[in-house]
Amino acid sequence: MTRNDDRLRRLLEEERELLQTDLTHFAEVEYEDIGAGNHMADDATAAFDQASDLTLRRNAERRLYRVDHALKKLEANTYGYCEGCGEPIDFARLKALPDARFCLDCQRKREMVGATGPRAYEQGQFHLTSSREHSA
Ligand SMILES: [Zn+2]
Repeated sequence: MTRNDDRLRRLLEEERELLQTDLTHFAEVEYEDIGAGNHMADDATAAFDQASDLTLRRNAERRLYRVDHALKKLEANTYGYCEGCGEPIDFARLKALPDARFCLDCQRKREMVGATGPRAYEQGQFHLTSSREHSA
């Protein structure tokens, strides 16, 4: 099976290693923050930094999960097939995004569903109503 390409496996393994290093780094930063303690408690900038660190860390964790998932699929010989429609994922797409779980079509459909969610809510009545109440 050409889909179980060694280069892709290597890419995934390298990615996993990088992410694990990143997450180790985040864990160390967190430890230093505890050491800095009370001085930083009221500092909005520090709070913001911590929040963005947390976002980065969550992204890394999510990505690590996806990479692990892809490696498991390699083991199970299901790698390279779309989890939406079961069709083979375009090889060029896999090379660009080795942990891709869906073919381009299914990915687009999923993103479209996501776009009509919270964003539609943000642009909808909720904000209009609350700003009108505010100026009244
Ligand atoms: Zn698909």
